[in-house]
Amino acid sequence: MNVVRSGWSARLVLVLLTITTTLSQATDLGFLLHKHPGRVQAFEQSFGTAHVFYPDADEARCTAALLLDVDPVKLVRTRGRGTPDFSLGQYVNDRPYAASSLLASAMANVFRTAMRGRCDLRPGLAETPIPLEVVLPALPCRGGPGQAERFFAPLGWDVSAVPVPLDPEFGEWGDSRYVTLTLTGTLRLADALNQLYVLLPVLDDAKHYWMAPDEVDKLIRAGEGWLATHPDRGTITRRYLANRRGLVRTALGRLADAEDATEEALDPAQVEEEPPTAEDGEDQPPSKEQPVSLAERRLQSVVQALRDENARRVIDLGCGSGKLLSHLAKDDFFSEISGTDVSHRALSHAWRRLRWDQPRRANDRVKDVFQGALTYADERFRDYEAAVLMEVIEHIDPPRLGAVERVVFGHAKPRVVVVTTPNSEHNVRYEGLAPGAMRHPDHRFEWTRAEFREWAGRVAAVHGYRVRHVPVGDDDPEVGAPTQMGVFTR
Ligand code: SAH
Repeated sequence: MNVVRSGWSARLVLVLLTITTTLSQATDLGFLLHKHPGRVQAFEQSFGTAHVFYPDADEARCTAALLLDVDPVKLVRTRGRGTPDFSLGQYVNDRPYAASSLLASAMANVFRTAMRGRCDLRPGLAETPIPLEVVLPALPCRGGPGQAERFFAPLGWDVSAVPVPLDPEFGEWGDSRYVTLTLTGTLRLADALNQLYVLLPVLDDAKHYWMAPDEVDKLIRAGEGWLATHPDRGTITRRYLANRRGLVRTALGRLADAEDATEEALDPAQVEEEPPTAEDGEDQPPSKEQPVSLAERRLQSVVQALRDENARRVIDLGCGSGKLLSHLAKDDFFSEISGTDVSHRALSHAWRRLRWDQPRRANDRVKDVFQGALTYADERFRDYEAAVLMEVIEHIDPPRLGAVERVVFGHAKPRVVVVTTPNSEHNVRYEGLAPGAMRHPDHRFEWTRAEFREWAGRVAAVHGYRVRHVPVGDDDPEVGAPTQMGVFTR
């Protein structure tokens, strides 16, 4: 069972996770993890010590193991101090050898840089999917092996989840709630680590009594690039946030905003699929308001603006995974639709969505969906009646924004430009968003209504456009609507 009792029974050494690659030059795993394959390294944690070592390290095959040496005394001392480990005392008593939350917090600590996808010595490799095998010998898994399959398979893993018998010597006691989980697949290491970080505690689904204020931020950050499009994102988000309704709604809203979760992610039915438990006391009662997500309302507002301006040939600049494109492609009003984005990853979602989502005849109106950068003038951006920049400008570094203005308003210069961006004044209405924090880790800025008006007015004046402003979402009397939209015409 990979449980080694060291000394007397109060101290436990647990092998909880191994990661293997068969990449050629497999020992490059050491660079990616920022941990040298030749050394055993120890990292102090609030609950004990995490060790990283490599049972296997040659050019053909390299395995890193994460081992936790849990000190029950330390663990109990953290109780009540408001640390994320607060609820973990139970692991010592109940199930010392399988501590998903301890593992997740140790991973975040020990593999922080790797989880961000940073590797200065092997930058290409950090971006590249590599062959991986991840083994968790004893993973608590509520919902049984099928649940592990449902969470991991859509992310591209081959999943083997074998129930662990309650007592290996007396198998007739039946299976425990633990599985031995083996994941095999070709993924970016950072994606694999972030998926484990989120999904291990989610599979455990142990009750947490305390949530750190930045828990939503952590989830959004770790979920980047995979959670918004995961078919079980509702369940994952709800379990990760211990069913705190306000936080769950905020997180799902931000996921839908940031990427391309479809509307059902915000469907209140999904959020409330599990009844609240006694521990949910501090939650607000379920609310039935906001049946339509902000992402959906934003999309509707953009489409309405295009219709109002009678713009039928449209290019979506920074189209992301193609939510607006696929919407426009279904609407007969629009005659020619193109999209561009700098991110190949986003585009591959868009291509897939357009191929899978559309009735055949609608595809005829999609002219081109191509990789491009808005900071460089590009002939392919020209000759449309309208350009849309939906939730894009806030992703541009401020020093590059002038280039984008010149490319869009000066060079492509369509008759209509529709720009949407968050209204930062509204952020105080998002529960779980720390004061001054932005809605998405990739945002370079978020503007107040006055800041957006000032920018829009200047750009319009310089390039010969008029601009009108439209609030998107409920227009709060104090802080305005969550999204602001400028419709530029000339
Ligand atoms: N418009 C989409 C996506 C918004 S996310 C939607 O509303 O759903 C912002 C998008 O802008 C990302 O897909 C990002 O890759 C893209 N982006 C950021 N900087 C860019 C640039 N310089 N050129 C082109 N696209 C860019």
